[in-house]
Amino acid sequence: MFDVIITGCGPTGAMLAAELRLHDVRVLVLEKETEPASFVRIVGLHIRSLELMAMRGLLARILGHGRRRPAGGFFAAIPKPAPEGLDSAHAYMLGIPQPVINHLLEEHAIALGAQVRHGCPVVGIEQDDEGVTVEPADGERLRSRYLVGCDGARSTVRKLLGVDFPGEPSRTDTLMGEMELGAPREEIAAKVTEIRETDKRFWLRPFGAGVYQVVVPAAGAGDRAEPPTLEDFKRGLRAIAGTDFGVHSPRWSSRFGNATRLAERYRVGRVLLAGDAAHIHPPVGGQGLNLGVQDAFNLGWKLAAQIRGWAPEGLLDTYQAERRPVAEEVLDNTRAQLELMSTEPGPQAVRRLLTELMDFDEVNRHLIEKITAIGIRYDFGEGPDLLGRRLRDIDVRQGRLYGLLHRGRGLLLDRTERLTAGGWSDRVDHLADPTADLDVPCVLLRPDGHVAWIGDDQQDLDDHLSRWFGEPAD
Ligand SMILES: Cc1cc2nc3c(=O)[nH]c(=O)nc-3n(C[C@H](O)[C@H](O)[C@H](O)COP(=O)(O)OP(=O)(O)OC[C@H]3O[C@@H](n4cnc5c(N)ncnc54)[C@H](O)[C@@H]3O)c2cc1C
Repeated sequence: MFDVIITGCGPTGAMLAAELRLHDVRVLVLEKETEPASFVRIVGLHIRSLELMAMRGLLARILGHGRRRPAGGFFAAIPKPAPEGLDSAHAYMLGIPQPVINHLLEEHAIALGAQVRHGCPVVGIEQDDEGVTVEPADGERLRSRYLVGCDGARSTVRKLLGVDFPGEPSRTDTLMGEMELGAPREEIAAKVTEIRETDKRFWLRPFGAGVYQVVVPAAGAGDRAEPPTLEDFKRGLRAIAGTDFGVHSPRWSSRFGNATRLAERYRVGRVLLAGDAAHIHPPVGGQGLNLGVQDAFNLGWKLAAQIRGWAPEGLLDTYQAERRPVAEEVLDNTRAQLELMSTEPGPQAVRRLLTELMDFDEVNRHLIEKITAIGIRYDFGEGPDLLGRRLRDIDVRQGRLYGLLHRGRGLLLDRTERLTAGGWSDRVDHLADPTADLDVPCVLLRPDGHVAWIGDDQQDLDDHLSRWFGEPAD
């Protein structure tokens, strides 16, 4: 009997497993594939995800495997630099190959004690009042108290639950792969610049020695489940550039569509959904992996609290209440970005107008806070603007705030030096520090770094400790 079984060891599943292990939850991850994916797309980790990595002591390792880039220029690929003074100590984007970030997160989960079984596709689930029976394809029957489907866009768990996944189907395909181009480098660069003036869906990124990452739109190019052929790439390149640049020797190839869908529910009884299993959208702005990892961060401590027995009534349901609106908002901003990237004259005119508007600091800041997820404010009720937002990595007496959050516990950050988290000290740390770089007397942080309370009154604090962390210990 496990506490939690997770299907899928992508970034969402691995992050969730690690978060649960911080609370000693017995976790098993069942992953369909035996080997990592052969395609090596570079994904962008945006500010909030980098902050999460810093909060769990992972950032330094991850930085060593990626390339830092400026935080701006991602909204609809409009090339505007980020405004000055973004509210983060980690205000950049990290480009990192997806297999590398997947591997680092899985390694992190295993180091914390998660069990991961590869080559183990889940084909059946059944739940009752006590738990969930999970069936991998080899016919074994496993039991757990909860199951989380982190099994990607075509989620078996979501389908077995019968959860609707409404939205728009994919209308265009984009081919992506790494291959050699025979044409001279200068000729390729000039053509890319010319085409990308109006069509941002096309991209040839040089990797040296004639090798390029090719990204090219391809209307109606064959079966979605199959990787595209070299002939598909040639056709796509000729259609957009008038030449196939002498493409040959593909190393890997894949395709993606532009479907946009959101699960009707994130929880059915003891089974939950997270990451691409719950939401899909085109990769414009590079938000999908970030969104999934942030789902896992939101869910992990709540599910752990449920299993450990200290979760207050309704805590687990705040996962859907908080995260589904965030996904809805991401789906909407990707729809808007796709419109802005259309080559039609109307959307191109709107794009020029928005490009002008982004010269206004507030507009630029608003869009960047959306894409990087640092603008998220959960609805915790009436209160100052900081309530419900995440707190940036501020300076505290011991160094940096995020350095104090590695264990995934709550934190009372107290400038008054007269408050206490007394009865909750098994779940919540207390830092009394009058020098903390805060302009309020005291904040209570949840394990995901969001501000759950602001004030200086002990009774009010106790009420909020109960609200988020349950009854005090005897
Ligand atoms: C071209 C492209 C570029 C992208 N760029 C970015 C970017 O820059 N930034 C960003 O944030 N996102 C980006 N994304 C999106 C990102 O790749 C996904 O959102 C992310 O991989 C979702 O993670 P996940 O763990 O939820 O799902 P997945 O990564 O799909 O992982 C699901 C896992 O579940 C396994 N699985 C499936 N079915 C079963 C089963 N029945 N039993 C057991 N295991 C199962 C799969 O093998 C897989 O390992 C991009 C996507 C594309 C296509």
